[in-house]
Formats: sequence, structure tokens, C-alpha cells
Amino acid sequence: MTYKSVILGTGPAGLTAAVYLARANMEPLVIEGPEPGGQLTLTTEVENYPGFSDGIMGPQLMEDMKKQAERFGAVIKRGWVEDVDTSDRPFKLKINGMDDIETSTLIISTGASAKMLGIPGEKENIGKGVSTCATCDGFFFRDKKLVVVGGGDSAMEEANFLTKFASEVQIVHRRNELRASKIMQDRAKANEKITWALNKTPLEMQSDGMKISGLKVKDNDTGEEEVLETDGVFVAIGHNPNTEFVKGKLDMDDKGYILVDPGTTNTNVEGIFACGDVQDAKYRQAVTAAGTGCMAAMDAERYLEGEAVIDWSQTLS
Ligand code: NAP
Repeated sequence: MTYKSVILGTGPAGLTAAVYLARANMEPLVIEGPEPGGQLTLTTEVENYPGFSDGIMGPQLMEDMKKQAERFGAVIKRGWVEDVDTSDRPFKLKINGMDDIETSTLIISTGASAKMLGIPGEKENIGKGVSTCATCDGFFFRDKKLVVVGGGDSAMEEANFLTKFASEVQIVHRRNELRASKIMQDRAKANEKITWALNKTPLEMQSDGMKISGLKVKDNDTGEEEVLETDGVFVAIGHNPNTEFVKGKLDMDDKGYILVDPGTTNTNVEGIFACGDVQDAKYRQAVTAAGTGCMAAMDAERYLEGEAVIDWSQTLS
């Protein structure tokens, strides 16, 4: 079967693209991958998505976006994309558990996944004190003691942000030297609410049965183990864009983020568009992902109409 448009991913970017394309009678097929709804389903309450004055639970927001896309005719199917043949038109997709699919346009919105430590107590306490997003969850830790794990720019940024709410933020890093840029390090070091636990490897997250109570760490020099008491652990050790399946087929940066023409969602292959976190290592917000999802739908629609793909950067200047 040949579709006018296939969207890969059901986070805010993919589902926004689906709403726009469905309303434009493009009958999009949306492939829902291994993490339906994307990263927002890993968070609790979302308070910074416009339009919800009392906040909304992340999973509920994604469920509503899905229903909204389906209401206009988007078809959403579960599947795991194994390969995309970009060498010919229409593009050919191999999706685990489905017959091969052909599509005139492809929107890639497979997102990025926060790297996790993989230690005991981590996975089961997501939403109970373990988080990968200070912007999403920091507000819930007013006057609490927090730990941020990581030594890069993300960890410094998350720690600084969290000091707006927390009474103390302890940065736990596995080496004595930080990876973060000097300016970010200096900012964190100048922040009186930030304390440091360097050269320590996280071993285990401990819970009081309801929520996180401590992080067990090992000193890498002495081998000594201790438990750092904390009300929450923010894991900030980087993200991996989910782009393995198009490696070598689309232009990417050295971390695997898909490169798009500035101000557009155009990849280097005409007819293939990228939106959301899969092409954004900087903002990574639900609302920015949704915004680029809208852009991708409009870029795809205009491409199909045979018009020149709009260079929005020209029209905006
Ligand atoms: P990153 O630079 O890759 O740093 C990841 C940090 O986590 C490193 O310190 C690393 O330790 C540590 N880490 C990784 N795996 C670990 C593990 N299993 N256990 C313990 N620690 C682990 O990632 P990032 O901080 O997310 O930054 C990604 C990119 O975004 C960078 O280019 C950064 O400059 C950029 N960024 C910029 C800004 C900004 O400018 N405002 C903000 C955020 C991010 P090691 O150092 O020992 O490897």
C-alpha cells in the first residue's frame, strides 16, 4: 500500500504532525514505536504545556493528542521501523510485524531517549523521585534536597535550575573533572545551593517504599560506599536520538541528531522531514516538539503539492 505520508513516532511532534496532515486529508499512517507517547509518558504532571491552566498528567496529554489525531482520520499502528529505503520514490519502509509500506513523504519524529544509569532502584522509581527532566519535575521539589547525576552541561543546567526550588542540590559525578563547558561549570560553582560529590559512582537508588530516599555511591579512589540522603534524583547523563534506522541515509551530527535546513524540517533527502527531539538537542520541550511537528506537516503537504519546499528562514527574515 502506498501512503501520501507516514509519520514515525507518537510523541508531541509526531502526533501534532498527524493532526495537521489528517485535517489536510493526507490520511497519514502513524507508526507508534516502543515508547508510545514518547518521553512525556515518563513524567507525571505537565504544567508548562500551554492551554492547561491546572496542569495535565503527561500520559493523559499524549492520550488526548492521539485521540485528536484519530478524530481527523489519522491511522495509528504499533510497529518497530527496521529500515527505510531512501534511494527511490516512493520511500519503502520495513516495519516489524507489518507488510512493507510505501510512502510519498516521511516524517521522522522518533524522539530521543534520556540515557539512564541502569542501576537498581532507578527504573521502578521513575515518577517517584527519579526524573530526567528538571524543567518538567523541578517544581515538585520545593525546599527538598536533591541529587543531580552527571558532569556535562545538562547536569550543570539542571542543577542550577533546580536550585530555584530545592534547598540543596548535590551534583554526583563519576570523575574529578567535569565535562561541562567552563561557563556552565563556573555558574554551578558560584551557586551556593549546589554541593559536590565528585569521583563517585552511583550504585543504587533507595526508596522508603513511597519515594526516593537516598542514592548509594562508591568513592572511586577509596572504594568506600555511602548513601547520600535525597528526596529526588535527576539523571542528566545525556540523551540518545532514536535514529539508528536511518544511520548513513540521512545527514546527522556526530551525536546522531538528524540535520535539518535552518528554519525548516527538511532533511537532506527531499520528501523526508524530521521534527521534535530527533533533530533538537537544545530545547527538547513538548511544546517545541509540537511546533516542529506542525512545521513538518506543512512542509510535507507543500512538498506533495509539488510546490518548492518552503525555506521558512527566508520568509521570516
Ligand atoms: P554529555 O556532554 O555527554 O555529558 C554526559 C555526562 O554524564 C558526562 O559527564 C558523563 O561522564 C556522565 N555520564 C555518562 N554516562 C554515565 C554513566 N553511565 N554513569 C555516570 N555518569 C555518566 O551530555 P549532556 O550534558 O547532556 O550534553 C549533551 C550536549 O548538549 C553537549 O554538547 C552539551 O554542550 C549540550 N548542552 C548544552 C547546553 C547549553 O549550552 N545550555 C545545555 C545542555 C546540553 P564523563 O564526563 O565521565 O564521560
